[in-house]
Amino acid sequence: MKTRVFVALDNQIKEQELQEASSVIRAGGLVAFPTETVYGLGGDATNPSASRKIYEAKGRPSDNPLIVHIAHFSQLEDIVSEVPKEARILAEHFWPGPLTMILPKNEQIPYETTGGLDTVAIRMPSHPVARAFLEDSGCMIAAPSANTSGRPSPTTAQHVWEDLQGRIDVILDGGAVGIGIESTIIDLTEETPVILRPGFITQEMLQEVLGTVKMDPGIDGSDSHQPPKAPGMRYRHYAPKAELTIVEGRQEDVVARINQLSAQAVCRGKRVGVLATEETKEFYHAEYVIAIGQRDDEAEIARHLFDVLRQFDALEVDVIYSESFDTAGLGQAIMNRLLKAAGHKRIFV
Ligand code: AMP
Ligand code: MG
Repeated sequence: MKTRVFVALDNQIKEQELQEASSVIRAGGLVAFPTETVYGLGGDATNPSASRKIYEAKGRPSDNPLIVHIAHFSQLEDIVSEVPKEARILAEHFWPGPLTMILPKNEQIPYETTGGLDTVAIRMPSHPVARAFLEDSGCMIAAPSANTSGRPSPTTAQHVWEDLQGRIDVILDGGAVGIGIESTIIDLTEETPVILRPGFITQEMLQEVLGTVKMDPGIDGSDSHQPPKAPGMRYRHYAPKAELTIVEGRQEDVVARINQLSAQAVCRGKRVGVLATEETKEFYHAEYVIAIGQRDDEAEIARHLFDVLRQFDALEVDVIYSESFDTAGLGQAIMNRLLKAAGHKRIFV
């Protein structure tokens, strides 16, 4: 299959290309598109064969459910068996935006889309290209991240092209995304709402409008007795090809230890990458040092995380040593992705 790329300059997609992308979706084909979080790989959420194609194109395990993207709240009402008041409150405050809600599904959504679950994940994205596409196609679009399963999520159309060219019909290129890590997932099927995946919308922001919101205790996947509730959080994910280790502690101690570990790795014949910040990059001696951003700009760190992991892949390093980013707001989401990428390898100095 030849993958076509339609470029949306300044987030304006040409009318004719928009219509073509819509026809592809309506005919059961696959279209990758930008959202404010990461690029999604879209198919008609009500078409079981489109959902099967998504799993196939990504190499994704078929028990890992997809998120259904909608343009209007009324579409949520069409596909769930019950709309709790929490869903209305959250939609009012955070939609369109980077929040996914889990609700009980009805028969409109096939089990192929929900990985066999009786619940469905729903999100209304805010990205103008995503919105135009949802509106024009009139479809609800099932879309996981548009990467090959197990690779870092795509934050540019180029990332999508690297992973999926020849396997999907169309890529809508809306440039680099704004947030760069996937949506917060909140489960509204329990007595108390539970965060299944941390993201840009934090626990604090959710508690402000809902009252108590719990964190899934299995969220970081480090405890084998407590698996995460979101199936996708159980897989090794976001992972660069190299072995990644996070080093935590005071800045000088971290720099010293990473330099020591890098020197040892070079002795073993390894190519070494260091994931640094603008403030620290000059202190490292490794061959490949990439600054992810300013340490106090957590939005920048989140936005660049997956791209930096992909850059290390392209450099073909064998090991990566990374600083830690346990910041107050987005830190939980950033560290969740970084720890998974590291397979939980973490050193405290
Ligand atoms: P992705 O779009 O690639 O970020 O993946 C979607 C994420 O949403 C995965 O972690 C899924 O496991 C999770 N998810 C989707 N539907 C459900 C559901 N019904 N219950 C729990 N988690 C879900
Ligand atoms: Mg994903």
